[in-house]
Amino acid sequence: MKLEKSIELYTKGKKHLVGAVNSPVRAFKSVGGVPLFIDRAKGSKIIDVDGNEYVDMVLSYGPMILGHRNSVVEKTIKKYLKKGYSFGASTRGEIILAGMVCDAFPGMDKVRFVNSGTEAVLSAIRLARAFTGKNKIIKFAGCYHGHSDALLVAAGSGLATLSIPGSKGVPEDAVKNTLIAEFNNIDSVERHLAENKDIAAVIFEPIAGNMGVVLPTQEFIEELRELTKASGVLLIADEVMTGFRSKFGGAQELLGIEADITCLGKVVGGGFPVGAYGARNEIMEMVSPLGEMYQAGTLSGNPIAMSCGIATLKELKKRNPYEDFEKTAAFLERVLLDAANENGVDLQVNRFGSMINPFFTKEKVVDFKSAQTSDVKKFKTFFWKMIENGVFLPPSQFESWFLATAMSKRDIYKVKSAIQIAMKAVAKKFKK
Ligand SMILES: *Cc1c(COP(=O)(O)O)cnc(C)c1O
Repeated sequence: MKLEKSIELYTKGKKHLVGAVNSPVRAFKSVGGVPLFIDRAKGSKIIDVDGNEYVDMVLSYGPMILGHRNSVVEKTIKKYLKKGYSFGASTRGEIILAGMVCDAFPGMDKVRFVNSGTEAVLSAIRLARAFTGKNKIIKFAGCYHGHSDALLVAAGSGLATLSIPGSKGVPEDAVKNTLIAEFNNIDSVERHLAENKDIAAVIFEPIAGNMGVVLPTQEFIEELRELTKASGVLLIADEVMTGFRSKFGGAQELLGIEADITCLGKVVGGGFPVGAYGARNEIMEMVSPLGEMYQAGTLSGNPIAMSCGIATLKELKKRNPYEDFEKTAAFLERVLLDAANENGVDLQVNRFGSMINPFFTKEKVVDFKSAQTSDVKKFKTFFWKMIENGVFLPPSQFESWFLATAMSKRDIYKVKSAIQIAMKAVAKKFKK
């Protein structure tokens, strides 16, 4: 397959961009080879600068749940573009999107829009500290909550599970108030709560998506809710990935729990930079200008981004694709497992709604440690065979594949045959 133009841009890009990218996963480091440069996308398809066309299962790491350039969404954006790009003053769109978000998440009376998931989470942590007057937070190994200092600990693949910074440049002081627990292990949370009286919040991904897809047990989720409530500790649900994706009301609706603070991003902006955090009135009234917790943003609530978010959520609500997503994901799971069986490849498949993720391991994947038993070399072979056969996957074993409403039966069959070819290639390369 031809990747000449991607190679050329990659070479050029390295001069003035760090690794030729603006977010590290895009550099394809864990699968090797040249990172694809994209020219355009429409519906379920994405096309690189060499003209290769792929079924897109990256979908911008989640936001493009309707697929690319949905006609209703595009019409709305065009209309708003004519009104101006940014005003530094409030607009009607912010009120409309806020209403839609608070309707979807019963635990939210009020919401504040920001520009990214990272910003949503770091503000939510500040809010939990402001509200409780306490300092420490508990996070789970393998959960990713953006790149703010305090949360760059045990933040997914490759980083250690101790309370040591997962990045150079993060001072130990910035993470000394971050305690690490194990996903699906309530005892590990209970221990921290018993040993520390200074805990403001527990933050978690209700369905983990950044160590690959890892599902919580219902018991773990319920105990986590009860335990935090009983200890006077706030529960922060980071639904940046799962919000509007696993269900309109996010993972919380599906799991039947209500967090104290919810963080959103990705789908809520439909491809434009939007993040959000929200909670019940009592908590949100701490935020400036009502309260004394400061948080601001020049471009926050940007009118174009709001219009895209509104149109995306409206379409999503109208189409209610969640059952179809479930069926498609179940089909792909069967395809993956059958192909693995036929070829004698050890494989686990975790999935939830429109998120699905195969792990090249024998071990059931229930937390960060078991996720790491995956053979990333096998994934690498698999990944490039999928690319050759017209399917764009996230270039990492530890990223979820996503579904979009724009995917047709034909697209799914294309994915199926690519999987069968790719699994055969894995078996051939890694003969036992
Ligand atoms: C993507 C993601 C973030 C970070 O969002 P950005 O928009 O990349 O800053 C935070 N939390 C979770 C769960 C995510 O999936």
